[in-house]
Amino acid sequence: MSSEKPNWAELFSEVVTSGLCTGCAGCVIACPHDVLSYTDLNGAYKPFHLDIDGDESSCTHETCTMCTRACPRFRAWEPEVDSHRFGRTRTDDELYGVGDVLLVRARESATHDAGQDGGLVSALLIYALENDVIDAALVSGLEGDGSTWKAEPRVVRTREEVLATAGSRYTYSPNLMAYQQAVDAGYERLAVVGMGCMASTPGVMQARKAGKVARRLGLTIGLLCSKTFNDAIFDELFEAKYGIAKANIQKMNIKGVFQIWTKDGAYHEVPLKEAHAWTREGCEHCPDFSAEHADISCGGIGTFADWTLTITRTDQGRSLIAALIDANLVDVKPIDEDPDALALLKKLARLSRRRWPESADPSPRRIPVTAG
Ligand SMILES: Cc1cc2nc3c(=O)[nH]c(=O)nc-3n(C[C@H](O)[C@H](O)[C@H](O)COP(=O)(O)OP(=O)(O)OC[C@H]3O[C@@H](n4cnc5c(N)ncnc54)[C@H](O)[C@@H]3O)c2cc1C
Ligand code: SF4
Ligand code: SF4
Repeated sequence: MSSEKPNWAELFSEVVTSGLCTGCAGCVIACPHDVLSYTDLNGAYKPFHLDIDGDESSCTHETCTMCTRACPRFRAWEPEVDSHRFGRTRTDDELYGVGDVLLVRARESATHDAGQDGGLVSALLIYALENDVIDAALVSGLEGDGSTWKAEPRVVRTREEVLATAGSRYTYSPNLMAYQQAVDAGYERLAVVGMGCMASTPGVMQARKAGKVARRLGLTIGLLCSKTFNDAIFDELFEAKYGIAKANIQKMNIKGVFQIWTKDGAYHEVPLKEAHAWTREGCEHCPDFSAEHADISCGGIGTFADWTLTITRTDQGRSLIAALIDANLVDVKPIDEDPDALALLKKLARLSRRRWPESADPSPRRIPVTAG
């Protein structure tokens, strides 16, 4: 296990096949020799080594450590990214990571209406694109006309593209896989939108100096997340048991239950406990509910359904929110107005931390389960 220059062999044994791999695709986009690829077949959502310059479990580029430097689950990833992003590791009472919580919603009705909660993620992306903060963003859309509900990584550049990809899909979308498309189009300053697994990837790359890829991923917008589901849930649960065909689904949300609105104007609820059997494998050991290494993390818990619960974590994140407030693009409320949301945030963050295996680096389990 101890190698001075850990490469794919160590990543394969310690992360990819140990249950820690989230499927974020960071290793794939960081590989300078193009020997890694990615599969989502049969719900795998995993990287794999091509049959060149090595095999499934080894790589002949023995001095290249880029994939392990890009991996947000390799060895002591959490304290490394904490120290790099915040100048210190977290304290025991920082259950949801470093940052300040507030409630925010987009003021423009088109943005607010398109958004899953308060439309803040879309408002941030539109502001950053229109004010020369970023060149493009890596987000998630639905393939084709949306009728298959297959989530896929996308590059967005305009207000229209941002709004067309707003809202949440609860299956996996490795948004970083859109990176190469963005670079090929000449975009250098990129934002990444993603759950905790993807939101730690830019930070770990920067902390471990993973070259140009790390420098390009300059803004990270995180999404709170307990789990994602396998694509098979549409056919095997929603359609088979509830008669809800995916082509007929208009919108979905999770608020204690799966809420499903269909195109015929009907509303359905599916108990979450029935969905657990379709939990994606990559989520089972994930310790990060609140996207703790993003510049800004966004979620939908709390009493106010059409507001985005927002955690500002870095100077860049705080400046961006301040800029949206100055430009009159968002409404803001203090989190004191929704104490239940804060309590739930702490509870869910603590629950996720308990999923991290005791056999792996101890940091993500370090917070006492009684804290908060
Ligand atoms: C899989 C998943 C699980 C979540 N679980 C929780 C939870 O348990 N508790 C909670 O409080 N919040 C959760 N959220 C976050 C919540 O659903 C909203 O995304 C968040 O509140 C921001 O809302 P908004 O209106 O500001 O964002 P919007 O303006 O609607 O923007 C949402 C952004 O998310 C991107 N996106 C959508 N689906 C995916 C996906 N599958 N993978 C990657 N990117 C995607 C879109 O492309 C868009 O850029 C989850 C989100 C996802 C995607
Ligand atoms: S967690 Fe991400 S970077 Fe690490 S092995 Fe899995 S896909 Fe690669
Ligand atoms: S639980 Fe959410 S953040 Fe964690 S690996 Fe799964 S999708 Fe990523």
